[in-house]
Amino acid sequence: MLTVTKNQIETLVQLQQIDVESRQIRSKLDSLPGKQAQLDSELREYESRIAERITALAELKKKYRAQEADAKVNQAQIKKSNEKLPSVKTNKEYQAILKEIEDLQKKNSAIEDEMLMSLELMEKEEQALAKEQAASEKLRTEIQMEKAELEQEFQKESARLAGLLENWEKVCGLVPEKLLARFHQVRKQSAGLAIVVVQDGVCKGCHMNIPPQLYNELQRANALKFCPWCHRMIYWNGIARSEPSRRSPDQVS
Ligand SMILES: [Zn+2]
Repeated sequence: MLTVTKNQIETLVQLQQIDVESRQIRSKLDSLPGKQAQLDSELREYESRIAERITALAELKKKYRAQEADAKVNQAQIKKSNEKLPSVKTNKEYQAILKEIEDLQKKNSAIEDEMLMSLELMEKEEQALAKEQAASEKLRTEIQMEKAELEQEFQKESARLAGLLENWEKVCGLVPEKLLARFHQVRKQSAGLAIVVVQDGVCKGCHMNIPPQLYNELQRANALKFCPWCHRMIYWNGIARSEPSRRSPDQVS
């Protein structure tokens, strides 16, 4: 049986608070790069949508130029046919050329309708693109700000962690070697929570009632006791009532 003083129990509780807090900070620090990557991918997704719009608009313009070229070719052919008309010898030939001109004019009229539609579509696309580009600029600024904030948080939390680690070493030095070894052992076996309070006879580690005899012994706080159910180190809440006030407000998370 390990004998302990109230002071030593308080020190172990303090050690555990440092441990729990360090773990919280570590998991926060671990999550930050993922958050930054998420922001980056959000922006990339947006930018790739804009790139798609630019490509689509270029396609529309290309199509419009092709329609324009077709219309010009037809126009030239119409002109040529019209010039041929005065020198035609037979009526049949004359009618054939008129028919050819009429067909070309019909074709060009259809092309012109298509070109008008293309123009309308291009205008719409250009407006949508401009809107998205402006939104993307805004998003980029926002994301840059958010990333800077995350970076700041990372620095702040890293500094806090370094302070806690320093404190951890210091507090470890206050605990007798045997007791500290036991603490580490239980910590390893109990999901990182080595010492828990017993409040009104209930172990706060596993929420089971501890036997009344053990509860009585616990209140004397002169020997190291363990919860018979979860095997964690236990202490009576009456000895560490001042515990929450030891943490400064900015440490509460
Ligand atoms: Zn327990």
